[in-house]
Amino acid sequence: MDIQKKQLDVVVVGGGLVGSLEALYLAKRGHRIRLYEFREDIRYTPQARGRSINLALSVRGRRALKDVGVETHMIEEHGIPMKARRIHRMDGSTYAIPYDARTKQCIYSVGRNYLNARLLQESENYSNVERYFKHKLVEANLRKGALTFLNTDTNETVHVTADLVIGADGAFSAVRKAMMKQPLFDYSQKYIEHGYLELCIPPDENGGFQMPANYLHIWPRGEFMMIALPNQDCSWTVTLFMPFIKFKNLDTKEKLLAFFEKYFPDSIDLIGKDKLIEDFFAGSPSPLVAIKCRPYHVEDKALLIGDAAHAVVPFYGQGMNAGFEDCTLLDQLFQKHNDNLAEILEEFSNSRWEDTFAISDLAMYNYIEMRDLVTRPSYLIRKAVDDFIFWLLPNFWVPLYNSVTFSTMPYSQCIKNREWQDRLLKKFFTFGGFAAAVGGAFALKLKYLK
Ligand SMILES: Cc1cc2nc3c(=O)[nH]c(=O)nc-3n(C[C@H](O)[C@H](O)[C@H](O)COP(=O)(O)OP(=O)(O)OC[C@H]3O[C@@H](n4cnc5c(N)ncnc54)[C@H](O)[C@@H]3O)c2cc1C
Repeated sequence: MDIQKKQLDVVVVGGGLVGSLEALYLAKRGHRIRLYEFREDIRYTPQARGRSINLALSVRGRRALKDVGVETHMIEEHGIPMKARRIHRMDGSTYAIPYDARTKQCIYSVGRNYLNARLLQESENYSNVERYFKHKLVEANLRKGALTFLNTDTNETVHVTADLVIGADGAFSAVRKAMMKQPLFDYSQKYIEHGYLELCIPPDENGGFQMPANYLHIWPRGEFMMIALPNQDCSWTVTLFMPFIKFKNLDTKEKLLAFFEKYFPDSIDLIGKDKLIEDFFAGSPSPLVAIKCRPYHVEDKALLIGDAAHAVVPFYGQGMNAGFEDCTLLDQLFQKHNDNLAEILEEFSNSRWEDTFAISDLAMYNYIEMRDLVTRPSYLIRKAVDDFIFWLLPNFWVPLYNSVTFSTMPYSQCIKNREWQDRLLKKFFTFGGFAAAVGGAFALKLKYLK
């Protein structure tokens, strides 16, 4: 007898990057998906969202996009390769630090709204996906899989039930709030004392890039930094990360210009003086939060993914990539457990938290690397040593950045990897130093005994 697989009824809360991708993965498996998104349809209002205009896409994200058939388009027709960090010194001169000198892999700058719209558009190819915009989750009984949405157009409430509720509703997740009422749910959040503000370098008068395009440009200034990622229209999204107190002190255009003339002099002409003043004072700096919680599920009924489960600070360019990896891993578990939700959700919760905690810690560390360490000789020497051993023994020695960005090694393993590499190098240099000292002493002794 042909046993028909049960079609699960899944509600995905949040039609951002991760929710839209998850809807595609589940649609491919033949389940019924209802996607509820608080905001309007991004495909028709692309200007509607404020947060970071472009994002760095790397291997983990690419693997997920490949699974749902979107990778080739995003890489070949949209993404802009960034093959190195391009460091801007105080005097305006620049130099490049390649991301992967050995295999020449790179990260890609992609438009957030463009990618989100593309994923939503792809879901139109599946008759088993329904999309509801301007629907805000206002209440949830997760054990029953019962949700209440507010239709923000009509002010009507909508009640739905599902076999599975997936909370992909971002760092301030309403699904997670409901989950917090469960016993043994651990939660912590950390706001860092730095915020970010976005500026823009427009295209030049011929419509081209004003700076070399295939780089992630960084102005590292110790306690703070500015970065720029290229956009499809040849503009640059410039993000200034800085302590809130410093933002607060720049309260007149004279102070702002003096600050830029001191720390980022080469950027003033690129941005344009008037535009710099206008854009800087048009907005206020946004906060950055890191969230850790666990478990990610409630019985066989509800699951958190993406920023809802693990918002991280953006300095490793891994928030979206990690969220996309959640979807890939979840898909593998659907396959492994033959759609048995209790087993899938439990294994996801138990196996994923260690890696998301790890990328959260790595992202915190990378802020210090980007704004400060990259300018130090010790960092450049360590990178040269890493690159050399990686070149010599590629299967044995994978540098930290490569393992995080250009591999799918579990994030916690990336940290362990780095720890044993550090230990080995320490021993090597300690022993090397000791051997050199003994050798030197021996040579001297020989000389004077003669
Ligand atoms: C400045 C900055 C730069 C970044 N750069 C990178 C980068 O280079 N690379 C990278 O990988 N990551 C980056 N990130 C992280 C990345 O933006 C996030 O990890 C990613 O957007 C998470 O996607 P998500 O779908 O989980 O959440 P979100 O993008 O927040 O989407 C959640 C969705 O849920 C909806 N929603 C919220 N509440 C409700 C509700 N009650 N009912 C219904 N819908 C709701 C929201 O409207 C939204 O559409 C960056 C983040 C920032 C802040």
